[in-house]
Amino acid sequence: MLLNNTVNNRMNFSGIAASPGIGEGTAYIFVNPNLFISERVVSDIPEEIKRLRSSAMAAVLELSVLKESVRARLGDEFAHIFRSQQTIAEDESIIAEIEERIRDNKSSAEESLCYIFESYITLFSELDDSDYNKSRVADIEDVYKRILRILLGLPDVNLSTLPEKSIIIARDLLPSDTAMMDIDQITGMVTELGGATSHVAILANNLGIPAAVGVTGITGAVQNQDRIILDVSDSEKALVYINPTLEIHQKIERTQITLKKHKAQIMKNQDKPVITRDGQEITLSANVGSSVELLPARDAGASSVGLYRSEFLFMNSNSLPSEEEQYQAYRKAAECFEEGFVIIRTLDIGGDKQLSALPLPVEDNPFLGNRALRLTLSLPELFLTQLRAILRAGVHGSVKIMFPMVGGVPELDAALELMNQARIDLEREKIPYDRSMEIGIMVEIPSAVWMADILARQVSFFSVGTNDLTQYLLAADRLNSNVSEYYRVFDPSVFKAVKEVVRAAKNQGRWVGICGELGGNPLAIPLLVGLGVTELSMSPRAIPEASWLIREISLKDAEELANRILELDTDKKIRRVLREFYKSKEINI
Ligand code: PEP
Ligand code: MG
Repeated sequence: MLLNNTVNNRMNFSGIAASPGIGEGTAYIFVNPNLFISERVVSDIPEEIKRLRSSAMAAVLELSVLKESVRARLGDEFAHIFRSQQTIAEDESIIAEIEERIRDNKSSAEESLCYIFESYITLFSELDDSDYNKSRVADIEDVYKRILRILLGLPDVNLSTLPEKSIIIARDLLPSDTAMMDIDQITGMVTELGGATSHVAILANNLGIPAAVGVTGITGAVQNQDRIILDVSDSEKALVYINPTLEIHQKIERTQITLKKHKAQIMKNQDKPVITRDGQEITLSANVGSSVELLPARDAGASSVGLYRSEFLFMNSNSLPSEEEQYQAYRKAAECFEEGFVIIRTLDIGGDKQLSALPLPVEDNPFLGNRALRLTLSLPELFLTQLRAILRAGVHGSVKIMFPMVGGVPELDAALELMNQARIDLEREKIPYDRSMEIGIMVEIPSAVWMADILARQVSFFSVGTNDLTQYLLAADRLNSNVSEYYRVFDPSVFKAVKEVVRAAKNQGRWVGICGELGGNPLAIPLLVGLGVTELSMSPRAIPEASWLIREISLKDAEELANRILELDTDKKIRRVLREFYKSKEINI
C-alpha cells in the first residue's frame, strides 16, 4: 500500500510484517524477464546460426560462473544442478536440430530454439513418473529460457550473486528463486504477493532477515539502486521507505536503540531453564528445513526440533533423495539434538511447494488439492522410502514422526498401515530401526480439531499447524495478499480450536505443541501456554525472546489471560489485550 508520495522518488509503502527487524540497503529488483518473441523473416541464415551458437556458448559461460559461485557457498550438492544444465546447453545434437530448422524454415534463431526445446519438454513431460529423465524437464526449461534470454539481449537476473547490502524487491519469491540466493548480501526482502506464512516469510524468519510481504505496488515504484529502509519493528505492519528523508533516518535510529535495550533484557539469563514462575516446564523447539540449520537452532537455545520440514531435502535437488540420503540427513538431526527430540514431518508437497524432481499436475485449487499426506498416500513407494529412513534414524536418538494434513481417521489409518509395512520390511531385512517410535499428527485441517478426541487414541501427540489451520478455518488463502485482512492470525476461532485440541489430547494423556508461526509469536506465547500447550516450535531466532517471556510469566496468570481472551469476539480486541500483557513484562525502555 502506498502511504504518501513526495519529491525525488521518496515514497513510503506499507505491507504485512513477515520477519522482524530493520534492514537498510540498496534496492535489487528481481524480475523474471519477459521472453516475448516477435515474428521475423530471416534473410541472412549464416548470421542467424552464428547468433544461435554464440548465445548457447554465452549460456554455458554463465552457467559455469554460477556453478563455481554456488559450489563455493553451498557445496557440490547444489553445484551439480548447474553442471547438468551446462551439459544440455553444450549438447551438439540439440544445436544441430535448431540449425536445421533455421535453414529449412528460414525462421529466426529464437523461434527455432523455441520449437525444438518445446518439443523436448513435451516429450520428457510425458514420460512415466518413474523414469529419471522426467526429472530433467525443469533443467531443460531453465537452459532454454537462459539461451532465449541471451538471444533477446536481456540481462541475467538471479539472486546467486548480489551486491553488498541488497534489499530484494520482487513481485513474489518462489522456493526455486530463493534456493540459490546469496543470503550474506541480503539485508531485507520485500514482495508484492504473499502472506505472513508464505514460503518467503518462513525463509526470512529462519535466516533472520527482515521481510515484508503484500506490499502492493512496490515493484513499479522502486528503481535499482534506490536507498531503502525496511522497518519491521512492529509485528502489525511493515514499512518500506524509498530514499528516506533525514527525519526517517533519525526515527529509525531511535527505534534501533529501543530494540537494542529490549534485546539486552531478553538475552539475560538465557542459560536458565525454560519454566514459568510457578514451575510449568515448556519445551522450546526449532522449526528447521535442512541440516545446515541444526547447529544454529541449537545455539539459539532450542532443546529439540519440533518440526523438521523434510520437503526441503527433496526441493533442493533435481532427483528424489534415496533412502540412504534421507537416513543420513535425519540421523544428523537426531545426533545433533541427542538430549531432546526431533520430530520429522513426512513430505508436505503441493500447495506452494513443488518438486522439480516430481512434476505434479496443475490443480485449480492446490491448497485444497492433492497435497502433503494425501499425495504421499497416492505414491506409496516414495512414502515407504521416507518412512524407512525415519524409522532407521530413530536408532540414533529420540526421533518422532509426524503426518501433515490429516483430515480424519481414514488417512491416518492408511498412513499407519504403511508405517507398519515399513516396520515389517525392515524387520525382515534385519535392518536396525526404532521399534517404539512415537507417532504424531499435525492439526491443521479443521475436521481434525473436531475429531481430536478420536484421533488422540491413535497417536502420541498433536502439533497444531496454525499457518494452515488459520487459512482453512477462515477460508482465506495464506498466500493471497488480496485476502490478507481475512487471514486473521489472532482470530478467536483459532484459539477456540487450540483449546478444543488440548482438551481432547489431555483426556487421553497426550501433549500438544504448536509448530505454526503463531508458536513463536511473542504476543501469542503467554496465551498458548495458558491454553495448556506444552511445546512451542518456532524459527530459531524467536527462541531467546520466547524463553525470556516464559520465565517472566506464571501459568496461573497465563490461564487467567486465556480465560479473558476466550471471551473476546474479534482479533483486534485479542491483539490489544495480548499487547498490554506483553508490555507489562517489558522493563521501562
Ligand atoms: C502450518 O501449517 O502451520 C505448518 C507448520 O506447516 P507449513 O507452514 O509447512 O504448511
Ligand atoms: Mg501446514
